[in-house]
Amino acid sequence: GDVYHTEDWGEPYFAVNKDGHLCVRIYGRETLPEQEIDVLSVIEKATSTDEKRKKLQFPMILRFPDVLRHRIDSLHAAFSNAIKSYQYGSVYQGVFPVKVNQNKAVVQDMVHFGYDHSYGLEAGSKPELLIAMSCLTKAKPGAYLICNGYKDSSYVALALAARAMGLNAIIVLEMEEELDIVIEQSSKLGVEPVIGVRAKLLTKIQGHFGSTGGKHGKFGLLAEKIYEVAKKLKALNKLHWLKLLHFHVGSMIPTTDNVFDAASEASDIYCTLVKECGAEMMTTLDCGGGLGVDYDGTRSSTPMSVAYGLEEYASKVVQAVQDRCDYHGVPHPVLCTESGRAMASHHSMIILEALSATPEPKDDDDEATTEQLHERIRDLSSKLQPFKAETAAHMSMPSHAVHVKKHGIEIYKMGKKLSKRVITDADTIYNYHMNLSVFSLMPDYWGIEQLFPMIPVSRLDEKPTHQATLVDITCDSDGKVKNFIREADTLSLHPLDPKLGSYYVAVLLSGAYQEVLSSKHNLFGGPSLVRVVGTDHGGTFSVETALLGPTTEELIGTMRYDVKRDISSVIEEWARDKKVWEMVENLVENGLHTMPYLLDYKPPPTV
Ligand code: PLP
Repeated sequence: GDVYHTEDWGEPYFAVNKDGHLCVRIYGRETLPEQEIDVLSVIEKATSTDEKRKKLQFPMILRFPDVLRHRIDSLHAAFSNAIKSYQYGSVYQGVFPVKVNQNKAVVQDMVHFGYDHSYGLEAGSKPELLIAMSCLTKAKPGAYLICNGYKDSSYVALALAARAMGLNAIIVLEMEEELDIVIEQSSKLGVEPVIGVRAKLLTKIQGHFGSTGGKHGKFGLLAEKIYEVAKKLKALNKLHWLKLLHFHVGSMIPTTDNVFDAASEASDIYCTLVKECGAEMMTTLDCGGGLGVDYDGTRSSTPMSVAYGLEEYASKVVQAVQDRCDYHGVPHPVLCTESGRAMASHHSMIILEALSATPEPKDDDDEATTEQLHERIRDLSSKLQPFKAETAAHMSMPSHAVHVKKHGIEIYKMGKKLSKRVITDADTIYNYHMNLSVFSLMPDYWGIEQLFPMIPVSRLDEKPTHQATLVDITCDSDGKVKNFIREADTLSLHPLDPKLGSYYVAVLLSGAYQEVLSSKHNLFGGPSLVRVVGTDHGGTFSVETALLGPTTEELIGTMRYDVKRDISSVIEEWARDKKVWEMVENLVENGLHTMPYLLDYKPPPTV
């Protein structure tokens, strides 16, 4: 394998081709043979000036709808195989949670590619519901429109409007109070609702997203409360409204045991509703999101990975639900999932351009000899007294813990430094300045320490000799990437060489959540968006669309300035020199983009 572990996280979509370039493999389209798209060629084509379109700038997101199609097909194949092999008595009918990537092209693709599977959408807010309502007019009739999230009366009215449009909208109650709103709006608008209930399960998962689940989770109703809702509906003669039970235990479910436990617990509630509460019109069990993505390619239940794939996940859901329903003697429900991350992550990559690279000044530890480091570790270790009850009696527990933590961390850091010396022998770290804002492009790196696989786009047949961190162009010291998959604190890169052209680094598996969580630190806006599709006439791909990111004017406008009134005219009034004003006017009014325009930038020949 290569130093980037491409084979582990990249399968089956990303690989290194014979030219030493990153390439995207696409397949699964009947009209198109399996083929490889060379990422460097895509970048060159998208930025070439002889294309009719406006010159694109970095950073850019490359979208591969063929990959999206393959993800959707693979998920549905996984469920239909599991259903067949266990002789499960119903079908799978999933939805894409719009919150994961609301971009028009992405949501439209999901609906389009999912048509034959009756794939639907999930919305968690009014804006998302509006997007879903419009996109689902192109879905197969009957595809679900799952309405989650906190609801006020206008949200509920909108969901009822969706039903009136003929969409299969299901209002999922997150709180008991929402039932009253549904009853009120339904009689006001004269539209019969279909409702679901979100269960708060006791099953909890480990890791960052674990707090979604469990008794103290933020969302849903505990089983007893759900039965009360059923009772209330029955008293109103409206129990037939209730069709779906929903749960979501959190994103990135680490193991299939967790999947099995959660689905089993929910199935028991489902069966109780049918058998004991008389909700015989129930049809669907919605298992929410959580189907994980293996970001580091280790296939383990560690934070950046999951220990299963689509097949194992589908198989566990089917087994658990079948097992519990058979036990209770309840017909098997339609299975729904709201898998977002697993559908959207693979289809896009972020392309960063290296601007320059400079060696990082060394700190004292770096100057220390290996023997000095060992000595420091021994010294610190001796200060870490083993924890004794008597010690605790004299020392307050918190201060003891702080003491242990402080020394522990220092020992850990030095140990890491030592182990790196053994491996690389060269401990100069280079700061690669990239045309990047961490806050805008990979907000989860900053916010929840999410790691993404990264790899240079070219020169992959050449040994990368520099240990690098990626420094962004925001003024924030957090704007630096210094943690990489597999617990690495550097990324191996090649020395920049102007003779070899620009140097690009791709950030992979970044198609879920990053674009929407993106923040506007320094008012850097979004990247250029390039849509690349495989084609068999004349070359292997075509650049279908290439859109520039928001302009400076748009970005400033989001902060409530009227750019003409509050900025341009003020500067015009105060700029004494006409030439100066013209320069400013040109910057503000001619669609200037927010990332520095660096296409013509030549990296200095420092390294
Ligand atoms: N459904 C609900 C209710 C969610 O809150 C989420 C995300 O957290 C999802 C689905 C999507 O989850 P994932 O991206 O892990 O599949």
